[in-house]
Amino acid sequence: MRIVVLGAGVVGVTTAYQLAKDGHEVTVIDRQPLAANETSFGNAGMIAPGHSYTWASPKAPGILFRSLFQRDQALRLSLRADPQMWSWCLKFLRNCTAERAAANTRNKLRLCQYSQKVLHETVAETAIEYDRNTRGILFLYRDAQSFEAGVKHMKILEDGGQTFHVLDFAGIIQVDPALKSARGKIHGALHGPTDESGDCHKFTNALADTCLQRGVKFQYETTITGIETAGDRISGVQTDKGRVTGDTVVMALGSYAPFFSRKLGIDLPVYPVKGYAITMPVKDLDAAPRVPGIDENFLVAYTPMGDRIRMTATAEFTGYDTTHKPADFNTAKEVAENLFPGAGDFSRASYWAGLRPMTPEGTPRIGPTRYRNLYLNAGQGHMGWTMSHGSARVLADMIAGKKPAIDTTGITAT
Ligand SMILES: Cc1cc2nc3c(=O)[nH]c(=O)nc-3n(C[C@H](O)[C@H](O)[C@H](O)COP(=O)(O)OP(=O)(O)OC[C@H]3O[C@@H](n4cnc5c(N)ncnc54)[C@H](O)[C@@H]3O)c2cc1C
Repeated sequence: MRIVVLGAGVVGVTTAYQLAKDGHEVTVIDRQPLAANETSFGNAGMIAPGHSYTWASPKAPGILFRSLFQRDQALRLSLRADPQMWSWCLKFLRNCTAERAAANTRNKLRLCQYSQKVLHETVAETAIEYDRNTRGILFLYRDAQSFEAGVKHMKILEDGGQTFHVLDFAGIIQVDPALKSARGKIHGALHGPTDESGDCHKFTNALADTCLQRGVKFQYETTITGIETAGDRISGVQTDKGRVTGDTVVMALGSYAPFFSRKLGIDLPVYPVKGYAITMPVKDLDAAPRVPGIDENFLVAYTPMGDRIRMTATAEFTGYDTTHKPADFNTAKEVAENLFPGAGDFSRASYWAGLRPMTPEGTPRIGPTRYRNLYLNAGQGHMGWTMSHGSARVLADMIAGKKPAIDTTGITAT
């Protein structure tokens, strides 16, 4: 089959890889000059089934409400006249019951676990190098109260098959001796030993090269401007470089998918949630983290990536704006200096912002639509690097008419 994949982020490229493996003739279209150049560029790099919690939870409405009045660094929501945002927020609030939160978390966890397995298969097949770190992830808590809540909260993931080690400070510095400077600042931690990390941008570009060698065509620097229909089928994709046709079209446009789905009458509740990242070279190897982690109180993630450290933070509802200013990185910088003083070279740091393609439930929309030859693979949200490999395989199986290897409850497009 001739399949056109719209978008060369990590979701589009992993999809192209799985489709090519199944013997399809694949063309990928993206406006960027290379793969993973938008949200998949600067994420925290965590492959973290151990962090599959959905954002919509009974606590979330209070947090959202407070963020309207406080200039919070972790979550920023402002009163804007954006009907898409408010419609998304209403759907999000409907998912904030304990029952919905538990069901959405289980659906997310199932996809994340499967996705990590597919990632391992892909790494074994391709031998891609991407600053992989398989020492697990540390979830750090600064006080007894948040630590106890974290241990309680983790049970749902443990029941779903994730392993966690509950650590006091002595245990933490055994896992990562670089945290020795955090004595007196961290009360306890959970260590998810099976979680891992790696550079999503490096991986995706290497996988795009593998795809190219296997005959996949990439049309970069090509902006998609419209999708043509003929009855219940997609008849073509309009771009600024001309019309592209195929037997089947897969929409993997991340936060931008709703621009096209809306015109086609397809309900795709994806809204961009902005996040920020600093990447800096390691200055002092001894002081630098060996194991990635999340400061659960400040909601800042830190990830060792080869000879670099990446710090990420903030969930901000600000439409499609990807600009940033120095103050956006204050909390991430403070956490870096607080936990790993002197480890990174801020004078040579690079700064970035990207848009998480979030659904209210936190689960993506994968699969067929009301158009017989149009499939979605979008909405992987704050865990798109983790979920991409499994999402791609699930979609490829659906296109092949096979039953996906996992229960797809909560992750389908219809
Ligand atoms: C700060 C931050 C930290 C994160 N940390 C993690 C993490 O640790 N682990 C994790 O699993 N996930 C993480 N994520 C989430 C993850 O990065 C995203 O879910 C993932 O990158 C989404 O991939 P995507 O392919 O759907 O979207 P994108 O990477 O945005 O790809 C969409 C592609 O579509 C193209 N496109 C859009 N419109 C058009 C058009 N009109 N014409 C042509 N091309 C178009 C874009 O150029 C882009 O390449 C993080 C995100 C952020 C912002």
